[in-house]
Amino acid sequence: MADADTLRAALRDVPDFPKPGIIFKDITPILGDGELFQTSIRLLAETASDAAIDKVVGIDARGFIFAAAVADRLKAGFVPIRKKGKLPWKTREASYTLEYGEAVVEIHQDAVNPGEKILLVDDLLATGGTAAAAVRLLDQLEAEIVSVSFLIELTFLEGRAKLGDHSISSVLSY
Ligand code: AMP
Repeated sequence: MADADTLRAALRDVPDFPKPGIIFKDITPILGDGELFQTSIRLLAETASDAAIDKVVGIDARGFIFAAAVADRLKAGFVPIRKKGKLPWKTREASYTLEYGEAVVEIHQDAVNPGEKILLVDDLLATGGTAAAAVRLLDQLEAEIVSVSFLIELTFLEGRAKLGDHSISSVLSY
C-alpha cells in the first residue's frame, strides 16, 4: 500500500461526534502506531519541498502533535498558535467565526521575525476559519508562509478558499 493509503486505512470515522451530523476524523489510531505516526510526520515534512524552513507553526491543540514532530525532522523551531488566554507574553490576536459565536487565537508577537520561512501545520482543514485566522497572524508578523499543510482536508467544505493565494497541501483529502 502507498504511504498515504496506510494512513487513510487507519483513520477512524466517528459519526455524530462531538454533535449530531458531524463525522469526526479520529487521528488517534495513527498517533498510537509508531510506523504510521512516523509516516504522517514524514509526509507532512515533505510538503516543505526543499525550502529551508525556519519555524513550523502549529495550531492548538491537535496541530501541536504534528507540528512539533515536523519541526524536529526539519531542524526548525516550533511556534504555537493558541486559543486566547493561554500565552503568557505579548500577543497578536485574530478572531474567526464558529457555528455559534466567535473564537480567538493568539501568537506571541516576537515568535516569528519578518521574512522567516514558515510551515503552518494543523491536523485537519474543514471550513478553513481556524487556519485563515492563523494565516492572518503570520501575515501580520510578515512571515513568509512556504506552505499551509494539513494531514486531512475535507475538500467538500471548501476551506481552501479562505486561505488566499498561499500554497496549501494536504496528505489525505476527502
Ligand atoms: P475549521 O476551522 O472549520 O477548518 O476547523 C478546523 C479545526 O476543527 C481543526 O483544527 C480540526 O481539529 C477541527 N475539526 C473540524 N472538523 C473536524 C472533523 N470532522 N474531524 C476532526 N476534527 C475536526
